[in-house]
Amino acid sequence: MKEKIWLSSPHMSGKEMKYIEEAFRRNHVFPLGPNVTGLEEDIVRMTGAGHCTCLSSGTAAIHLALILLGVKQGDEVICSSFTFSASANPIAYQGATPVFIDSESMTWNMSPDLLESAIKDRMSKGKKPSAIVLVHLYGMPAQLDKLMSVANAYQIPVIEDAAESFGSAFDGKSTGTFGEIGVFSFNGNKIITTSGGGAMVSANPEYCKKALFLATQARDAAPHYQHSHIGYNYRMSNICAGIGRGQMEVLSDRIAKRRENYFFYREMLAGIPGISFQNEPDERYFSNHWLTTILIDPGQAGGVTREDIYTDLARLDIETRPLWKPMHLQPVFANVPAYTDGTSERLFRNGLCLPSSSNITDEERRAVVDAIRHSLKH
Ligand SMILES: *Cc1c(COP(=O)(O)O)cnc(C)c1O
Repeated sequence: MKEKIWLSSPHMSGKEMKYIEEAFRRNHVFPLGPNVTGLEEDIVRMTGAGHCTCLSSGTAAIHLALILLGVKQGDEVICSSFTFSASANPIAYQGATPVFIDSESMTWNMSPDLLESAIKDRMSKGKKPSAIVLVHLYGMPAQLDKLMSVANAYQIPVIEDAAESFGSAFDGKSTGTFGEIGVFSFNGNKIITTSGGGAMVSANPEYCKKALFLATQARDAAPHYQHSHIGYNYRMSNICAGIGRGQMEVLSDRIAKRRENYFFYREMLAGIPGISFQNEPDERYFSNHWLTTILIDPGQAGGVTREDIYTDLARLDIETRPLWKPMHLQPVFANVPAYTDGTSERLFRNGLCLPSSSNITDEERRAVVDAIRHSLKH
């Protein structure tokens, strides 16, 4: 029987086991430990970030980033609307209100113009946003030059949710290193994985030190378990970090393969009316192309919709996924402020993520292309 073709599956290299075996041999089967420290060093080296703290998930990293920037009950925090819910949920953990900003159509990420008008409008209503959660979706860097200059002009700190863009860069600089704090995820579906995990990076060593303190139950420097802060158990395990260290050895191969998937699909689907891709706008943008995503315009595609292709491929055991449903359309965020112009709604309506694993075979990729062409009668 043919195997299911996955959207984005874990891809082990074999280099993970030496780190895990070493941890077993030394009985380092606990949170933190040498693999965690080693992974933090690897991440600092790769990203050029000053400092790194590995954590239990990307979500935990966003939560701690908000705490470190002083976000508290009743605050407003600006957030990309077109994203996975984990970008926004930690804002609610803090009792703060997300303020959602729509995408622009060039990178599909936060619109600098809408960001600026939202900041002005919130300030005119008497509340300056406490922070900005800025997402680089599917690996594509946002318009970092413009967004950072708006954020800097209003002196609002930026948290970069680079969960999907590990290894991506803008102007030669890693995503995650532009804002005050950057966040990565090593969940099983991301470009590299620790099975589950995340990390925070910052140029400011105090943030990373304080993150570790909060992530380890906020113990004061006393042997008798004294606490003057509310703490969390957000540590990364030393075993998971061992997987991550092995994965870091092959990160550049993983990025090359994901990018190659994108070029393959783009070439094989070229010239079909109504199909377009999320492309790097110019040479300043380097996307890891974590997922290859397409837009289907039914008006030009002979009436074939995103839903048709999704259903046809599912029948062939090929996993695809609609683009993220924007946060301002989510029932759970129905009553929060949003600054929108219809861009992410259009992307959501017409967009589909294609199987993009780094261990996808040529035969599988061809099967995906054949199935899409068949749906489009092309
Ligand atoms: C995966 C993801 C996260 C959350 O990361 P976890 O490690 O799964 O908690 C946050 N934001 C975005 C955009 C993601 O894709």
